Amino acid sequence: MAINIEKYQEIINELKGKATLIAVSKTKPVEDIKALYELGQRDFGENYVQELVDKQPLLPNDIRWHFIGHLQSNKVKYIAPFVHLIHGVDSLKLLQEINKQAAKNNRVIDCLLQVHIAKEETKFGFDKQELSELHGLAELENVRVIGLMGMASFSEDINLVRSEFGYLKKIYNSFSIQHSTFNILSMGMSGDYKIAIEEGSNMVRIGSLIFGERNYNK
Ligand SMILES: *Cc1c(COP(=O)(O)O)cnc(C)c1O
Repeated sequence: MAINIEKYQEIINELKGKATLIAVSKTKPVEDIKALYELGQRDFGENYVQELVDKQPLLPNDIRWHFIGHLQSNKVKYIAPFVHLIHGVDSLKLLQEINKQAAKNNRVIDCLLQVHIAKEETKFGFDKQELSELHGLAELENVRVIGLMGMASFSEDINLVRSEFGYLKKIYNSFSIQHSTFNILSMGMSGDYKIAIEEGSNMVRIGSLIFGERNYNK
């Protein structure tokens, strides 16, 4: 079996009472997801729409599917019937499309706004200014914005990573005061989740530590 059960248990114990673990299963076979499901894991994260749509019907119904990747507006309709939480909402246009598709499915979809905290230009998300200019969130009846998500720089510099997470926590705190629906701060991956927890994360997205390194060439 490819999954690292010992590591999984270790992470679960480490996070207890602090953060929810999203097991990031992108590129991994349904057998590996099933194996982790058997151990009690229910929250899984994927970041390619097609892959998620292919896997979802093959797996138990009570899995909570988190969409953690960059979501294109024209693909929202494929995941709207079942997705549990969309982590990477990075534009008002996308949020409006999620609202529309959620309404078509007679449901309310929970979303996190992605905040750009890393130095790298390539990471998606709002900056602090854009976030504060986002009005009318409450008018979208079929989406519920319940928090923020961010990715730190991919860097060995622990102080840099820590300051980026700390910065996001500050923004989260100030928004929580204005938005009573806020209760999720999604930050931290395999390489930096310990720092993220120390900086106030309550949801981490961990893939390779549990499922092993990904092979994109297969
Ligand atoms: C792939 C991915 C993760 C998990 O990455 P690991 O380093 O394998 O833990 C977390 N968040 C996002 C947005 C991802 O795309």
